[in-house]
Amino acid sequence: MRLKPDINIKSIYDINIFNLKACEIEAIFFDLDSTVMRSKSGVFEPKMLEFLARLQNHFKLAIISNNKNEDYINKARAQVKFPVIGRAAKPDTKVLLKTCEEMKVNPRNCAFVGDRPLTDILCAKRACMFSILVDSISCDEEKKVVRFVRFLERLSIKK
Ligand SMILES: [Mg+2]
Repeated sequence: MRLKPDINIKSIYDINIFNLKACEIEAIFFDLDSTVMRSKSGVFEPKMLEFLARLQNHFKLAIISNNKNEDYINKARAQVKFPVIGRAAKPDTKVLLKTCEEMKVNPRNCAFVGDRPLTDILCAKRACMFSILVDSISCDEEKKVVRFVRFLERLSIKK
């Protein structure tokens, strides 16, 4: 099943550095909205910035977002010390694979972390990356219809 992630964890903070190292992961790509930043907030929480900085001691990092708002992406970019790329058009893999080339990493040695099976996980799988599905960090603020779509999406990844 192409939408089924390699692993499914509740919280992004449960990412295990040791396990990823053991799988020869060299780079981690993240979705932006609802994965590492609360949707539409434009600001990383301090705890997330600390966590990303800790990961950066072990892996190359980049954020790959479908967000098309240049100002929003620039604002996110100013808060971290690794690439933040917008307009990625996931599940298309072109932008993700181009970023891999620029970062000089083989997609097979990369992990992708995201909150959406239909965009993030499908993109990761098409790019032959290790895929990690996390729960949305904005779910308490999401509209009912968004939560319902998430529910359906996640039903589709169950066997
Ligand atoms: Mg997202």
